[in-house]
Amino acid sequence: MQGIATICRAMQRVRLLILNAALGPLDYKLPEGVEVAPGQVVVAPLGPRTVTGIVWDAGRLPGPEIDASRLRALREVLPVPPLAEPLRRLIEWTADYYCAPLASVARMVLSSGGAIGGPTTMTEYRLSGGMPERMTPQREQAIEALEGEQATIRELAGLSGVSEGVLRGLVNQGVIEPVSVAIDRPFEISDPDYHQPALSGDQLTVAKRLVKAVEAQEFAPFLLDGVTGSGKTETYFEPVAEAVRMGRQVLVLLPEIALTENFLVRFEERFGAAPVQWHSSLKSTERRRAWRAIANGEAQVIVGARSALFLPYKQLGLIIVDEAHEISFKQGDGVRYNARDVSVMRARYEKVPVVLASATPALESLHMAASGTYERLELPNRFGGAVMPRIELINLTEEKPGVGKWLAPPLVAALEDRLAKGEQSLLFLNRRGYAPLTLCRNCGHRFQCPNCSAWLVEHRLSARLTCHHCGHETAPPQVCPECGEPDCLVACGPGVERIADEVAEILPEARVAIATSDTLGSPERAAQFIAEAESGAIDVIVGTQLVTKGFHFPELTLVGVVDADLGLEGGDLRAAERTYQQVAQVAGRAGRGSKPGEVFLQTRHPDAPVIAALEAGDRDAFYAAETDARRDAGAPPFGRWAAIILSSEDEREAREAANRLGDTRPESDDLYILGPAPAPLALLRGRYRYRFLVNARRSANLQEVITCWLDSHEFAPGLRVGVDIDPYSFV
Ligand SMILES: [Zn+2]
Ligand SMILES: [Zn+2]
Repeated sequence: MQGIATICRAMQRVRLLILNAALGPLDYKLPEGVEVAPGQVVVAPLGPRTVTGIVWDAGRLPGPEIDASRLRALREVLPVPPLAEPLRRLIEWTADYYCAPLASVARMVLSSGGAIGGPTTMTEYRLSGGMPERMTPQREQAIEALEGEQATIRELAGLSGVSEGVLRGLVNQGVIEPVSVAIDRPFEISDPDYHQPALSGDQLTVAKRLVKAVEAQEFAPFLLDGVTGSGKTETYFEPVAEAVRMGRQVLVLLPEIALTENFLVRFEERFGAAPVQWHSSLKSTERRRAWRAIANGEAQVIVGARSALFLPYKQLGLIIVDEAHEISFKQGDGVRYNARDVSVMRARYEKVPVVLASATPALESLHMAASGTYERLELPNRFGGAVMPRIELINLTEEKPGVGKWLAPPLVAALEDRLAKGEQSLLFLNRRGYAPLTLCRNCGHRFQCPNCSAWLVEHRLSARLTCHHCGHETAPPQVCPECGEPDCLVACGPGVERIADEVAEILPEARVAIATSDTLGSPERAAQFIAEAESGAIDVIVGTQLVTKGFHFPELTLVGVVDADLGLEGGDLRAAERTYQQVAQVAGRAGRGSKPGEVFLQTRHPDAPVIAALEAGDRDAFYAAETDARRDAGAPPFGRWAAIILSSEDEREAREAANRLGDTRPESDDLYILGPAPAPLALLRGRYRYRFLVNARRSANLQEVITCWLDSHEFAPGLRVGVDIDPYSFV
């Protein structure tokens, strides 16, 4: 009897993971005749309201059990496929590893709110063929630009460069007509045999190995280590094609939206159709359409930013992480996960291969390959016989730029030479805007963000002083707010806009383009930039880290690194590695076609090991030295780091809470805790921040120690506690 009673109770009671981090798991009973499986998304009553939850596997969510008589019934089972078991295990692992609430991780899976409800049709617009009663230049421009286009008014406004008001006027006159379209209309079908490119011998060897791994349908992690310009993308397209042939889905993660366009072009050439995209600038209807196609298995190949990693793929067959060393795979707030590392875990749970592709792999990834955990596949040569560029140092202490200038004479001469030959140049400086600091020439007042301990960055193109941390913006003042002096602002130091001005002065006839997240923020603008650069309509590109990766411009033969020392400043653990990666990647943009490339590094420290290794082109020496330094410091991959940040709008509250927490720090032989100390960014978005750093041996159970430590404290409601496991930035 008791056995039967247990079964009945188990069948009627379900435990939900509620999508609200403030709530723990909650129990409900099933209404008469309703059955649910783990992973199903449901709506349940909570007080007078309802909440969304996921039915979780029995016994996996700890928490008190309330009496069966007090259980309320589930309200509704939503008509979306249940989250599969591998994804549920990934949600648990991610929450455990990154010390994050399960609900916050689960919300990333259901990130398309509209996917679980909402309308099924939407209205798009297109030209009807009619003409307006009165033609204006703007109307003419719109009609010309929108030939063959169909999209929302907002998108059409973007395409045509006229305002939505102008387009609505044309709708009223019947020149533009509405069309009702189904939101869930199918995506184009990729043809794995659409165009078979000719691959080199190295590429074929690597491609065959990966195809075999896809066929095996087992977990297999690979490090695809190929020099810039070696054709990694074309190589991994072969296992992608094989997965598509097998009817399985492929996820390709890219570090930046701006890189998507370049990828799409190459993908369409190979597969004859566009892949499904997933990134933050999708509209909600597009997100819903993509989410559903991913969940029901119709989406074949999905290319996306890191958030695509948590989507509910029905039948995943392969994961590719391109430019896997990029730090933009690390999420900076909320659940602070690293998509590179989580993708390996997802592949493990899904039992599929995962490929980390890079020309400058993270030291952690190289270490995994060296220890045999990852299988290393190499593409040591550039495709089509192109040769690696020559790297030369310019010692800025000897070759000085002019007063108020930033480009040294040898670099200027090289720029002039390229322009005369009709070849392209790229200048790299990882600083957006015109100048990183603005001050008053009369009293020395420095313009600081009111919400952050950071300088305001002058952007001349938009005539703004901007905080790069919180987005605070203000117009440059006419008079100094401190001393009242008019016209007193002085720009200190260079940003890309200032370098572009200098180039325009030196080479007045050159066509100069600035490439940063400010100028290439949307896929459309990135596409336009790429088209212009490829057609030869740009002579000199001045760009931030955005231009260090992925782009392939055959006519680009000169790269100038304006300040190779920049990355070595600041308190970043991986500063040397990041400098190496950035400079090696940007250098890799040069000479990718038939003409050889040349790279100049401007530096004040030509003897610094990372700069010397770059000049010598000696990657192995750099990684060996860096490995030794990390081993000595107990830094990853030999030890582990974590950061704990306490923040509050009240400085005293943050400081006192940090001190109290510090008083109960756990003592252990295999980890030590530094702090509390004011974080380098002591004020961020109006919140005062105190920080602990934890350095642990690999043997330590880092997450458990931190969780126990924090759980033993009560924090005031206004206080936020953030945990960052494997942090990339210590600010
Ligand atoms: Zn002043
Ligand atoms: Zn700010």
